[in-house]
Amino acid sequence: MVIIIGAGLSGLLLGYRLKQKDIPFKILEARDRIGGRIHTVLDSSETPLEMGATWFGEQHVELKSLLDELGIEYFEQFMNGTAFFQPISTSPASSVPIPSQPPSYRIKGGTSAIVQELAQRIGEEHILLNENVKEINFSTDDIQIISKKIYRASKVILALPPKLWATSIKVIPDLPQDLKNTALNTHTWMEHSIKVALSYQDPFWRTNGQSGTFFSNSGPISEFYDHCNSELSKYALCGFLNPSYAHLSNEERKGIVLNQIVSVFGDEAKNIINYEELNWLEEDKTYSESVNQLYPHENNGSPLFQEPYFDSRLYISSTESSSAYSGYMEGAVISANLTLDRVLRDRH
Ligand SMILES: Cc1cc2nc3c(=O)[nH]c(=O)nc-3n(C[C@H](O)[C@H](O)[C@H](O)COP(=O)(O)OP(=O)(O)OC[C@H]3O[C@@H](n4cnc5c(N)ncnc54)[C@H](O)[C@@H]3O)c2cc1C
Repeated sequence: MVIIIGAGLSGLLLGYRLKQKDIPFKILEARDRIGGRIHTVLDSSETPLEMGATWFGEQHVELKSLLDELGIEYFEQFMNGTAFFQPISTSPASSVPIPSQPPSYRIKGGTSAIVQELAQRIGEEHILLNENVKEINFSTDDIQIISKKIYRASKVILALPPKLWATSIKVIPDLPQDLKNTALNTHTWMEHSIKVALSYQDPFWRTNGQSGTFFSNSGPISEFYDHCNSELSKYALCGFLNPSYAHLSNEERKGIVLNQIVSVFGDEAKNIINYEELNWLEEDKTYSESVNQLYPHENNGSPLFQEPYFDSRLYISSTESSSAYSGYMEGAVISANLTLDRVLRDRH
């Protein structure tokens, strides 16, 4: 029995691949939902709003091949029309030309379509929610994994950010010191971000010849984009807030976001259906305190994450363990595929 810790993209893909190979497994997930940093919320108007991963590009070949395998369609991010830029808080946003760039894509129906499709193919009996793993004990013949219950396995795969497992899961006996130190100093991509989306009855910006794209140096919004669905039946804008606004309440952020968005797009922007936000700093199954200041992607893809431990009974996956495209969905797919190869290699 293989136990996978974490039902994010890398854990779910690993589960699906193990199922295809007829290898028994279970996925233990701490949250009451699957997906981890992939989290599409349907608001009261049924507009799919991405609170986590949203875009990918042509270069993300393993993700694209997975989408093809799963029969999931994608569409190009709308970028046509005027874009705005606000250099400093005291100056109004002005229209700017956006240099032509390779297209970026979004997943039809929302990014969560990938994790839902994987979960459906895996079968829900193999994915156990609300199982917050606190301890893994390798000192017995069978590995013991302790969450609400005690699970037993012959192999364990950590499919969550290294800094998170290093700070929140006790391993017996201790992990090698170099691995532990590296994990504690491995940056978790997007753990400081605040995602915001506004849904509307109509895409007034498109009607006005605007793309919905907006960049600001002063905040609270740092970048914003058109977020209409692929069918063009649901209309929204979505993007990031500057993390320095994390200490405000949801209502305070809503107020200043609306002020800023109205100052850029005009009074029509006041008439939202919904304001949706997610402050990832408050998500303790993603965010973990850092002892040292870490730069983006620091220690991601470390060679130490490519090794099995405890006589090939412990493996490390998650996007941060990937040496290519770490932090992104592509990295999560690459890490799952590589971890599967290692597990299969060590069975023979
Ligand atoms: C706001 C935001 C925007 C992003 N935008 C993009 C984007 O546009 N494009 C892109 O490619 N990528 C983007 N990403 C990154 C992308 O979401 C990740 O690369 C990918 O989803 C990571 O998958 P993972 O399986 O490696 O990790 P995770 O998704 O973090 O999965 C880990 C899982 O482990 C679970 N877990 C944690 N602790 C425990 C425990 N103790 N016991 C059991 N389970 C546990 C978690 O709940 C989670 O489900 C974004 C991320 C965020 C947060």
